[in-house]
Amino acid sequence: MLLEVKDLKAYYGKAQILHGINLGIEEGEFFALLGPNGAGKTTLINSICGLVKTEGKIIFNGKDISKLKPYERVKLGIGVCPEGRKLFPEMSVEDNLLLACEDGCEDRLEFVYSLFPRIKELRKNKVKNMSGGEQQMVAIGRALMTNPKLLLLDEPSMGLAPIVLLNIRDALMRIKEETNISILIVEQNVHLALELADRVALLIKGEIVKEGSVEEMKDIEKHYFEV
Ligand code: ATP
Repeated sequence: MLLEVKDLKAYYGKAQILHGINLGIEEGEFFALLGPNGAGKTTLINSICGLVKTEGKIIFNGKDISKLKPYERVKLGIGVCPEGRKLFPEMSVEDNLLLACEDGCEDRLEFVYSLFPRIKELRKNKVKNMSGGEQQMVAIGRALMTNPKLLLLDEPSMGLAPIVLLNIRDALMRIKEETNISILIVEQNVHLALELADRVALLIKGEIVKEGSVEEMKDIEKHYFEV
């Protein structure tokens, strides 16, 4: 297993948001986490990144990272495309990408630009002048620039026009097929998630209520609306 989450509990102050999450992601696996608003999906992503107070264990690549700082987790190979993107709006596309990178930047930049030719065209432009979809491409690209073994994607489809969504979907498909990066994606777009994922889990009120292969979970929408 590349990532093992064991009995993970997360809190904001006294409020407990995650109630003992267990999940494992293999190398090269595409894992989708689905669930309604407020279920705790972003909290789980932020817990893996080290941004939330947690109990339990997070084992990454054989090492217990539960107590490590966020930047230490990035260095070990956890790249994140966070909710709200968190880019530097006054900086250019290329500077946003290069800031995230320590070495081997040219090859990785080349790969990011091959996934998203549109942001190559705009590479000298300030991020603040770009559309939401273009910014999302930069945010995914930036996460790739950290040379991740595990890529965490928090609702990359949020608010995007259908044509941009196809572009993002194709890029994620290529990452799946051409690299051995593992992906944990949080999505409200169940169709997108089922199209891409190998395995799927359903998170409701801070608990994983169902998990399985895409085949086993293809009626997930039924479960989704039953709970
Ligand atoms: P969404 O799809 O709406 O983003 P989510 O499944 O990602 O939902 P979270 O954002 O993880 O859910 O939120 C889980 C719960 O934690 C919600 O009840 C939310 O109100 C609460 N919460 C989130 N962030 C904080 C915070 N910083 N302080 C206190 N409570 C928070």
